[in-house]
Amino acid sequence: MGELGESAFKILFTEEQIKNKIVEIGMQITKDYKRENLTVIGILKGAFIFVADLIRQIHLPVAVDFIAVSSYGSATQSSGEVKIIKDLDISVKGRNLLLVEDIVDTGLTLKYLLENLKSRDPASIKTCVLLDKPQARKVEVPINYRGFTIDNVFVVGYGLDYDQKYR
Ligand code: 5GP
Repeated sequence: MGELGESAFKILFTEEQIKNKIVEIGMQITKDYKRENLTVIGILKGAFIFVADLIRQIHLPVAVDFIAVSSYGSATQSSGEVKIIKDLDISVKGRNLLLVEDIVDTGLTLKYLLENLKSRDPASIKTCVLLDKPQARKVEVPINYRGFTIDNVFVVGYGLDYDQKYR
């Protein structure tokens, strides 16, 4: 995956770097939820590849579901308005949830979903994000598992798009 600049594409993380990081995060999650039930909730579309790789590194009987959101904005700028366009299929009441996101930018998407999921009475909620852009943050959100911290650049690949392409 890499940075999409004005005219050029620059590799930020190689396949191997991403793989190693996911093995590390998966081991930690496996340890932390050893005696608990765990439901991973992937945020579509961006997190679909991350979720697919991550759950194979979590050595527990994990349940998986997806929620799709749209934010109204231009291709490279999130407007902060979030709408659920595909809801979860399963009930999360009494479950330990791990909300998995590709990238946290302003934090508005994660904040909205955390509040929405909390209202459904889960046992706990934690967050796992592959990329964190702390310089772009508008609202504080808790990040429990983090892949990489990056500068405020626009990233594509490994599930992240530019105008639905380059995923
Ligand atoms: P936030 O709500 O934190 O501002 O943004 C979250 C969403 O904005 C991410 O799930 C992602 O869809 C999109 N986003 C933020 N930064 C980037 C980026 O650098 N590249 C891509 N492709 N999408 C991004």
